[in-house]
Amino acid sequence: MRRKSRPIRIGTVTIGGEYPIVVQSMTKTDTRDVSDTVNQILELEDAGCEVIRVAVPDIEAARSISEIKKRIHIPLVADIHFDPRLAVESILHGADKIRLNPSNISDQEWIRKIARLAKEREVPIRVGANLGSFRNRPNNVVEALVNTALSEVKVLNDVGFDNIVISIKTSDVLTTIQANERIASMTDYPIHLGVTEAGPLEESLIKSSAGIGYLLMKGIGDTIRYSISDVPVKEVEAGFTLLKSLHLRESGLTIVSCPTCGRCEIDLFSLIKRVKADFGRVKVPVKVAIMGCVVNGPGEAQDADIGLAGGRKMGVIFKKGKVIKTVSEDKLYEEFKIELQKIIAEKEKF
Ligand code: SF4
Repeated sequence: MRRKSRPIRIGTVTIGGEYPIVVQSMTKTDTRDVSDTVNQILELEDAGCEVIRVAVPDIEAARSISEIKKRIHIPLVADIHFDPRLAVESILHGADKIRLNPSNISDQEWIRKIARLAKEREVPIRVGANLGSFRNRPNNVVEALVNTALSEVKVLNDVGFDNIVISIKTSDVLTTIQANERIASMTDYPIHLGVTEAGPLEESLIKSSAGIGYLLMKGIGDTIRYSISDVPVKEVEAGFTLLKSLHLRESGLTIVSCPTCGRCEIDLFSLIKRVKADFGRVKVPVKVAIMGCVVNGPGEAQDADIGLAGGRKMGVIFKKGKVIKTVSEDKLYEEFKIELQKIIAEKEKF
């Protein structure tokens, strides 16, 4: 069962409560380069990204937010470290959420000022902890992470602010799991999940899915981000693939495909690439099976809306496991594509 968290609004998107688990990413551009940043965000929007974070290293970056916001369609989070002026400027320039650890700001007056402004403009603040929060490695890392996150919450609560999202991330999967389980039982603030610095694509997919997936199955987590040393679109694709696998979101293309074996007589990997290229950005939920042979294909993939299975110089097209057509190999993909387009058009009517 999902943990009960309080709903928090980030611009047009609400996280927590009964709201769907939201997929986020972060730009990898220089935020001061408005055009580059907008292009990357639009690409991420196209992939389904629902909230975007940008780094705000200086005042110029904070001031770029208003121009960026005019050209994008999803809420924007300003990522701030240390300098309170950047938080204030980011909020004034339209940031929908701030990521900031108030304990890094020594002047109470600045903390009050940020909290006051954020409250006025209904801008939530994400606080949290990671291993970078400590000068020396603590003996009990989990306890230290949880205590640090709670102390960040307290700094804001003490100035009357409670529009808060919590995030505890480390690059270690088990530590991340344990710390999030602990904090989830101690507060009702929404939790942003991720395994941080999770590495290049292959490593991150495994580490992040293990960490985030475990916590989601325990009902913990209201928004997620895959951290991947690669183009950010992959973070969004991975996020949705995980949510779909756990039946937490229903959207877009799901591919069921076999690993192939000695029975496969078609170029299955190329077919998968073509399906992804042609239908990877479909919004309605559609499950497609691409199977190497008819021996196991249609039967194994009977919950797919549509599928194809290869044979010797031919293939079959099936719907919900029932074969509807037998086609020669050279026409297989085109015939399949027409049938899939019909299914998508039908689903889009509703
Ligand atoms: S579907 Fe056919 S080709 Fe694919 S792995 Fe199974 S037996 Fe092999």
